[in-house]
Amino acid sequence: MCLFDPNTLKAGNRSGKLSGTEASLGVLMGYVFRRSKGRAWRLRARSMQLWPKWIEKLSNKSVPFELQNPLLQLASSKEEASFMEALAKDRKKFGLEMVPAQTKKQFQTPWPNNKYGGLLSYQDGRIDPIKLQKNLKYVLNELKVTEINQKIISLERGSSKPENRWRVHLKNGVNMSFDTVIICAALGAQDLLQPLGHNYQIEPVLGQALELHLNSPEEDLSKWPGVLISQGVNFIPTGKDRLLLGATIEHGNIPNNLTLKQMKNMNGFAPDWLKQASINSHWYGLRGRPVNHPAPLLNNLEPGLILATGHYRNGILLAPVTAEWVGEQISKEDG
Ligand SMILES: Cc1cc2nc3c(=O)[nH]c(=O)nc-3n(C[C@H](O)[C@H](O)[C@H](O)COP(=O)(O)OP(=O)(O)OC[C@H]3O[C@@H](n4cnc5c(N)ncnc54)[C@H](O)[C@@H]3O)c2cc1C
Repeated sequence: MCLFDPNTLKAGNRSGKLSGTEASLGVLMGYVFRRSKGRAWRLRARSMQLWPKWIEKLSNKSVPFELQNPLLQLASSKEEASFMEALAKDRKKFGLEMVPAQTKKQFQTPWPNNKYGGLLSYQDGRIDPIKLQKNLKYVLNELKVTEINQKIISLERGSSKPENRWRVHLKNGVNMSFDTVIICAALGAQDLLQPLGHNYQIEPVLGQALELHLNSPEEDLSKWPGVLISQGVNFIPTGKDRLLLGATIEHGNIPNNLTLKQMKNMNGFAPDWLKQASINSHWYGLRGRPVNHPAPLLNNLEPGLILATGHYRNGILLAPVTAEWVGEQISKEDG
């Protein structure tokens, strides 16, 4: 078994341009999802069921990791609050609860525009995507998966013998044969698929994020929920005086400085302590968003060719359910 990627996780020090996964904040917004039926809800609900098992299996002594919860999403209008209230009633069994504005269940910090309360989800939250990748690498190593840091430049249909069904051509000129190829290359997927007659367009949607250091000793982030979502921005405490902030949603490949500034000052509503916080690091990454198809792309395209990519804004949340789906496709073929 081989994993091909010229660009897998390096130091885990986040700055500048990163892969989607390295850039990610790792927020799991599963149970707070607005819809209660259809594919998007089923995928989220199943992934949230699988996450605790994944954490248990993956977390090891050298890189322990856990789900940082709860997640609190503040309502920005009366209408949104009523919607959240109904959702909380409906999903009580999944750990959802409506909380009024500024209660102790929140985070004991005066927060702008917090007039309508919010939706508290005890099982949603956040996992550290860098630790996740380190742990995945550890497990791949245990499973004797060979990591090859090379770009695949093309795929070719091979012979009828199952073990030679797919020929993989690498950038360094080496060719290798496999019975099954799983394409999970996000924005790189379309170039591999098009010559084979499978046309999928995936567009880049850029996201910028920040790690801030607070310069106001009176603010103590240790009382905060695992994730606070206010006006569509995620605030994630990573220490008493450290906070992750993200992510912007920008079309194309080039980060916009103004969009970043607007996010940091919350369109002018940021409290002083947030405005005064200094930037420890700034990074960005591209999300792969399928055009004319709902995210993610999960398709068994032809014998031995599986597409599992294009997760847009939810690739971390949906990682377990994606892996489960891929496993099912392979088992079906093995019959
Ligand atoms: C700023 C930001 C914040 C985000 N926050 C969240 C969040 O809070 N929660 C959440 O669930 N999701 C979040 N996301 C989205 C999530 O990160 C992505 O959906 C997910 O990481 C996609 O994973 P991926 O492996 O498909 O793509 P990527 O992580 O982009 O990886 C694709 C890999 O494919 C490799 N590749 C491409 N072409 C080839 C080729 N020809 N041969 C070999 N290798 C190739 C690339 O080198 C790359 O390493 C965020 C994204 C960004 C940018």
